[in-house]
Amino acid sequence: MNLRLLSGLLDFFYPPRCLVCNKIGAQVHPACRAELPFILAPFCSYCGLPLPTAASICDSSLCLRSPEERSLDRVCSVFRHSQGARQSVLRLKYKGVSSLTDWLVSELAGAVRRNKLEVADGVLAVPLHSRRLRERGYNQAGLLAVGLSHYLNLTSYEGLLVRSRETRSQVGLDGSSRTKNMRGAFTWQGKPLEGQTLLLIDDVCTTGATLSECAGVLKLAGASRVWGVTVTRELRHESQY
Ligand SMILES: [Zn+2]
Ligand SMILES: [Zn+2]
Repeated sequence: MNLRLLSGLLDFFYPPRCLVCNKIGAQVHPACRAELPFILAPFCSYCGLPLPTAASICDSSLCLRSPEERSLDRVCSVFRHSQGARQSVLRLKYKGVSSLTDWLVSELAGAVRRNKLEVADGVLAVPLHSRRLRERGYNQAGLLAVGLSHYLNLTSYEGLLVRSRETRSQVGLDGSSRTKNMRGAFTWQGKPLEGQTLLLIDDVCTTGATLSECAGVLKLAGASRVWGVTVTRELRHESQY
């Protein structure tokens, strides 16, 4: 059976439901998409935090530091971490819906292009610890990273950054405790990265502590720039990277 016929039959028996409103129709209705909390300019050009006015950098003490003092060069996120966007991420986390993955990959690619980050050399995700990976069966951020590498035709480095130490949940920890909790948690197992620019994917950015810790490891492995790209962004004012 050819693929078009097969997908036509699947659509007939399982008509696509909108990922936002769950009604039968498009994968995401244009009107439903328009309601989603996209992060558009103005936002901080380092940490990606939405800003009320067109200043290019937010006033968090960390973003005001010089670029050499940061391991993560910048962060951009597709959505504010609001209810609708949050639910999409949670569904991805716990159900691994493949049409949702495809759609989120296209939205991530849109944010990458809006921010002119498609000039990167490679893509990888913040890894899960192997025990969590076994429990869940897949790393949701890894699915997005692999999808994005195909979508943007970039090298995938998925699986080469590993979580070498289990960490306690970051929920409820403040910025500096999150940074401490993540210290030494990741190891690069690939070849030296020699001046490469990498897109580092995660589902949510809260304070940036996890992205930042990964970026530090990638820089030690030779990467020259690391750009964090996440599906959602929590709006804490004091970002921590
Ligand atoms: Zn809809
Ligand atoms: Zn900032």
